[in-house]
Amino acid sequence: MRFSSAFIFTTKEAPKDAVLPSHKYLVRGGFINQIASGIYNFLPLGKIVLEKIRNIVKDELDSSGCEEVQLGFITPCELWERSGRFSKYGKELLRFKDRKDNCFVLGPTHEEMMVELVKSKVRSYKQLPLNLYQIHIKFRDEARPRFGLLRGREFIMKDGYSFHSNEEDMKREYKLMEETYKKIFTKLGLDFRVVEADVGAIGGSGSKEFMVLADSGEDTIVVCKSCEYAANIEAAKREKRVPPTEAPEFSGFAKFHTPNVKTIDELSEFFHIHPYYLLKGVAKKAVFDDHEEIVVFFLRGDDELQEIKAANAIKANELVDVSEEELKENGIVPGFIGPFNLKAKFIIDEDLKGETSLICGANEKDYHLIGCDLTKLIALYADFASVKEGDKCPKCGGELTLKKGIEVGHIFQLGDRYSKPLNAMFLDENGKQKPFIMGTYGIGVSRLIAAIVEQHHDEKGCIWPMSVAPYSVDIIVSNIKDKEQFEFAKTVYDELLNKNVEVILDDRDERFGFKMKDFELIGFPYAIIVGKSLKDGKVQLVDRKTLNKEDFLKEDILDVILKRIR
Ligand code: ATP
Ligand code: MG
Repeated sequence: MRFSSAFIFTTKEAPKDAVLPSHKYLVRGGFINQIASGIYNFLPLGKIVLEKIRNIVKDELDSSGCEEVQLGFITPCELWERSGRFSKYGKELLRFKDRKDNCFVLGPTHEEMMVELVKSKVRSYKQLPLNLYQIHIKFRDEARPRFGLLRGREFIMKDGYSFHSNEEDMKREYKLMEETYKKIFTKLGLDFRVVEADVGAIGGSGSKEFMVLADSGEDTIVVCKSCEYAANIEAAKREKRVPPTEAPEFSGFAKFHTPNVKTIDELSEFFHIHPYYLLKGVAKKAVFDDHEEIVVFFLRGDDELQEIKAANAIKANELVDVSEEELKENGIVPGFIGPFNLKAKFIIDEDLKGETSLICGANEKDYHLIGCDLTKLIALYADFASVKEGDKCPKCGGELTLKKGIEVGHIFQLGDRYSKPLNAMFLDENGKQKPFIMGTYGIGVSRLIAAIVEQHHDEKGCIWPMSVAPYSVDIIVSNIKDKEQFEFAKTVYDELLNKNVEVILDDRDERFGFKMKDFELIGFPYAIIVGKSLKDGKVQLVDRKTLNKEDFLKEDILDVILKRIR
């Protein structure tokens, strides 16, 4: 490609709302441009990177026996009603009607469609297993589209669905997909972790996410320093905590006047007791399919509520905040909540099981109870405290640490969650009707472009790994009016093209510094600078990663560059 005729427009200005390097550089470097909130055009450079990622994903999936299809992006509402997701999905699901008043949605994911397709073709266990995938547009009307390609509304996803005659076979495929995904993300040059993920209120089956480590990541992941344990904070567990101090001793169970002592800090100071031995009550409104209800979650004073774990523990769809007024209306006294004689449903964190010497609210203004013995209470226990830095690993007892990650892939054991309501059945070995056992596997293909830049950039721009670089080599002609420079650059360019090297010739009539800045911003892995030293028979090779410049004899440059890129 000749730069002078390419549709590549770089700019100095980053979008006003851009805070992350990937967002800034992808727009400034002319990879993408924004049309509307969360909707982007892919320009030639962006499209090349997208296709390269796509091909790596496709190659690995095809080698693992998956087959590519492409389903309609728009799907009928009726399917979503049958699976029960039409009402549950919320505002992310964009619904509309056609001229004949038929209801449709812009596909945010395609379980329903894929089940419908397989149901219409497959009759017998003999036709199983199957793993069908597509790499195609999705639309989710995200509440807060942001960070460029990381959280768009329209984005490209690889979504795959496998169909099996039994659990065991589905688990085999799930393992295979985990291995396949690892190969894909390794080829993409990413530093990632496979983490245990939240499986939702239904729970049971397994789910793993693939997290690219990056400080800008929206997900928090818990990683063990000693073993391979890693989990999304929404699903992370820990060993029972070690008491930081000896348990306090109380003369008995008694009510204590604590005027205006409401927060854990105030309480800890008032009694000179470690927050570990204080009971913290967090009240939330739990939303269920058919009703809403206030639920109080009790934790140690120095633990925090993990809302996803908490919602799962009580099988709620979600937890929402509740105002002090609403609490008071329900007979709950904010600041003085405790599990004894509480006028609301409550549940206690597992780590507190067996505690006999705590302080908690008395459910009465300005009073707390001391010497609280939880074993005297009939209560539900579950794990819903958020794992924190320094907690102990549930697998090996090692130290846990927190990291930030970008979710680029997700694999999920679905079982018959969709096949059953959609009545998608096959005949098993005994001629009996059974619902398909399914797995589902996603990769954020367009998100990956941004995730790669988040891990591979410096203060000047992108640094593409060779496997996805838009061009491997940028030949920069320092002064385009210098015939000798241009002729030599053109010769190297032609020879590289002959060798099937992806090369771009920067033959624009611009200052050298300008062209160099574009090289750094766009992030081609190598540049060959054909400049003044050509007179002495030399050219320069620049490595984008290190920005090191090396002089080479002009007759050697072809061999050198071929060695570097292969
Ligand atoms: P997130 O938690 O980031 O919202 P999700 O768990 O809802 O994602 P999945 O339904 O698991 O997403 O979709 C599979 C993959 O699609 C995700 O792992 C992610 O890489 C990608 N993805 C999801 N939402 C978006 C989005 N709004 N923009 C870009 N990629 C996305
Ligand atoms: Mg996910």
